Amino acid sequence: MFEWIKRQLDKLGSPTLDWVQVEVTTDCNASCIYCPHTLLQNQWKNRHMSIDLFHRLIPFLSYTDLVYLQGWGEPLLNKHIFEMVRFCKERGKRVGFTTNGMLLTEDRIRMLVDLELDILGVSLAGTTAGTHNRIRKGTDYDKLVFNLDLLSKIKAERKVKAPEVHLAYLMLRSNFHELKEILPLAIRVGAKEIVAGNLTLIVDPKLSAQAIFNYSGSIEPQKRANKSKNGKLPYGRRSPTACPPGRRALWAGGCGELQYYRSRLEEIRKRACRENIIFDYHGPGIDDASLYCRENVRRACVINVNGEVVPCVFTNPVLCENRGLGNGRSSCYMFKGQFFPLTGISFGNIQNETLTRIWNKKEYAGFRDLFDPETATRPEQILSEMPKCCVKCYKRLGV
Ligand code: SF4
Ligand code: SF4
Repeated sequence: MFEWIKRQLDKLGSPTLDWVQVEVTTDCNASCIYCPHTLLQNQWKNRHMSIDLFHRLIPFLSYTDLVYLQGWGEPLLNKHIFEMVRFCKERGKRVGFTTNGMLLTEDRIRMLVDLELDILGVSLAGTTAGTHNRIRKGTDYDKLVFNLDLLSKIKAERKVKAPEVHLAYLMLRSNFHELKEILPLAIRVGAKEIVAGNLTLIVDPKLSAQAIFNYSGSIEPQKRANKSKNGKLPYGRRSPTACPPGRRALWAGGCGELQYYRSRLEEIRKRACRENIIFDYHGPGIDDASLYCRENVRRACVINVNGEVVPCVFTNPVLCENRGLGNGRSSCYMFKGQFFPLTGISFGNIQNETLTRIWNKKEYAGFRDLFDPETATRPEQILSEMPKCCVKCYKRLGV
């Protein structure tokens, strides 16, 4: 009786979330050159969420319509992944995850179709085998496209639309010129959505210049952008005078290069729109005045492989636990040319407390308030209250 009353009280205070993201594994079969899983591999602990811990999510599934089974790692490596999908589907949830595509087989694709998985995200870093395979090491572009073709064929055979394919393209300087080919690929494999994202967690300083919003000082974007006929990245020297005066929100690369990226991205968006495909791209330029975080922290949360409730994958404690660079320093990431330690934030663990209780904690509510658009009218105060990892986070700066 007492337990029943507790559960009812818990339901009363439960939030309505756009989605709950669940990290089902931290293990991966690939070695993408930019990923913390690769770059911090000496200290990385590969773990799978146990099915028992996953079952503890039951009471929290009513908070949301969408469960996304994703964190740092390849979801298909968790041997319970199909059971997890089934478990959520039986409770009427929409379910998705993003994969590198290498563990898809015909049997597995058929199982996912049978389970009526709603979203299958697929990660790309190029639209040719040469580029994609160089960046997403351990994956194979041709195999990925083969698997997506197979999925289209199986869906057509069964006359079903699910799972919807979403293509997640990581934009880098070295692969941006191939992004325009994403649309023919999306049409071919029947993708409904394309998301072009940025490299926002830079663990290796050598990759800093690869982020399209980071300007190395050696390129003159406007000149080459004007001259560029083949869609390749414009090179030259920066032209600061091209920027409109008085703007606080400047992109370090200069407005010429920013304009280049924006116009290319807009062209793709318009063409995608004509094909009825959503093309969502993350900003190619930093906005220093922004207090907006892309990760929807006010209406979504991440439950990590250990059950910790965290606002986003960047604050996931698995990124920083037990990690050192061999010299006593903690692992770091790079933000605007400086190193900062990776720090985790956890507001509680579902093994010990309900998600309602964790969500309603004063410190978690206070954290979410920092990202309330209404509070953006007092930016200095907000920034002084924000955790350092958010202040020094590209996700907060519109990229
Ligand atoms: S597939 Fe994903 S988790 Fe694995 S190394 Fe690449 S980016 Fe990291
Ligand atoms: S600002 Fe960055 S670290 Fe903070 S919640 Fe958003 S994504 Fe996470």
